[in-house]
Amino acid sequence: MKINVTRSSMPSYEEYCQQIRSIWDTVHLTNMGPLHNELKGRICEYLKVDNAELFVNGHLALYCALKALELKGEIITTPFTFASTTNAIVQAGCKPVYCDIKPDYTIDESKLEALITEKTCAIVAVHVYGNICNVEAIQQIADRHGLKVIYDAAHAFGVEYRGKGIGSYGDVSMFSFHATKVFHTIEGGCLTFRDSALAQKIALHRNFGVSGEELECFGSNAKMNEFQAAMGLCNLRHIDDELALRKEAFERYNLRLSGADGITVLPVTEGIKQNYAYYPILVDPQHFGADRDAVAEKLAKHEIYARKYFYPLVSENKEFTEDLASATPFAKAVSRNILCLPLFAQLTVEDVDRICDIILK
Ligand SMILES: *Cc1c(COP(=O)(O)O)cnc(C)c1O
Repeated sequence: MKINVTRSSMPSYEEYCQQIRSIWDTVHLTNMGPLHNELKGRICEYLKVDNAELFVNGHLALYCALKALELKGEIITTPFTFASTTNAIVQAGCKPVYCDIKPDYTIDESKLEALITEKTCAIVAVHVYGNICNVEAIQQIADRHGLKVIYDAAHAFGVEYRGKGIGSYGDVSMFSFHATKVFHTIEGGCLTFRDSALAQKIALHRNFGVSGEELECFGSNAKMNEFQAAMGLCNLRHIDDELALRKEAFERYNLRLSGADGITVLPVTEGIKQNYAYYPILVDPQHFGADRDAVAEKLAKHEIYARKYFYPLVSENKEFTEDLASATPFAKAVSRNILCLPLFAQLTVEDVDRICDIILK
C-alpha cells in the first residue's frame, strides 16, 4: 500500500523490446543514431516547436544552452527551483542573482528590472510545476535591456500557452526527460530554441566542442543514446493517456482540498493547456492547525511519501557564504510550507481520497 510521490510511466516490456530490436541490426548505440533522430522529429511535433536538440539529461542541456549563448556575468533567476537551475549557471561561470516569486510560484516579473545591472546578461526563469512564467512581460523586459531569456521548462512538457508550445517562448527552453517527469527517456532532456542557427553551437557543446577535425571550444559530452531514445518513442505513444489519468487524480485532489482551511492548492495560470505534473499544497500552519512537516510525517506514518519540493531554496546551497535567502522572503516562506503530494498516472481516485482523508483529519 506504500505510495511514493511519483512513479515512472513504463511501456510494456514487449513494446520496449520491439523498439530496441533494430539496434542489433544498425549496431548504432549512440552519437545521433536513427532512433535519436526519429525521437527528435516527434518531440518537435509534440512540443509544437521549430527547433529541438536532444540530450543525455536535462541538466547538461541547460548547461550547454548557457554555454552556446556565450553568457558571461550576472543571470537573474529564481531561488524556488531544483538544484540544477543554479548549478548550471554557476558551472557556466556566471553569477546567479535571485529574484522573488509570485503566489503562482514563478519568478515575479515586476521585481526583475530592479535587479538588472550593467553585468546582467540573461534571465533564467522556471515554469514551476508546469505553471508558466509571464512570458510576455519577461520578453519585453529582456528586449528593453538586451538580455537573453532561457526557460527551465523541466516541469512543462506538453504545456501550451495561447495554442503555442511553451518551448517556443524565449531564446531557449530546457525540458527534462528524467524518469520522474511527465514524459521520460529514463534520463534525458532537450533544448528547444527560436534561432535555428543556434543548433550548430548547441551540438558542438553537446559533443566535446569537436567539429570534424577541429576543436572549437571546451564542450561537454551530453549526447542521448539509442536506448534512451527507444524509451522515449514508446512513452510518447502513451503520453496523452498518461496526461488524462493524471488529470483525473489532479481534479480529485482539487475537489477534496481546494476549500480546506489553511491549504492553498496550485493556482493555475489562465489560458494554458496543463500537464498535471505535480500536486503541491501550501500549508498555512496558523489556519490549518499543523505545519507542513507535521503533514509530511503523518502521511509517512501511513507509508505515503510526499516531497518537500522545493526545500531548501537553491540560494541556500552551503557553497554560498552569504545569506541570499532573506533577499527573497516570499520564496523562503513558500519553501517552508510547500508539500508535493503523490501524483502519477496509476494513482487512483481511491488513493487520492485516502491521502486527503489523512490530511483533513
Ligand atoms: C528535473 C529538473 C531538472 C534537471 O533535469 P534532469 O533531466 O534530471 O537533469 C532541472 N530543473 C528542474 C526544475 C527540474 O525539475
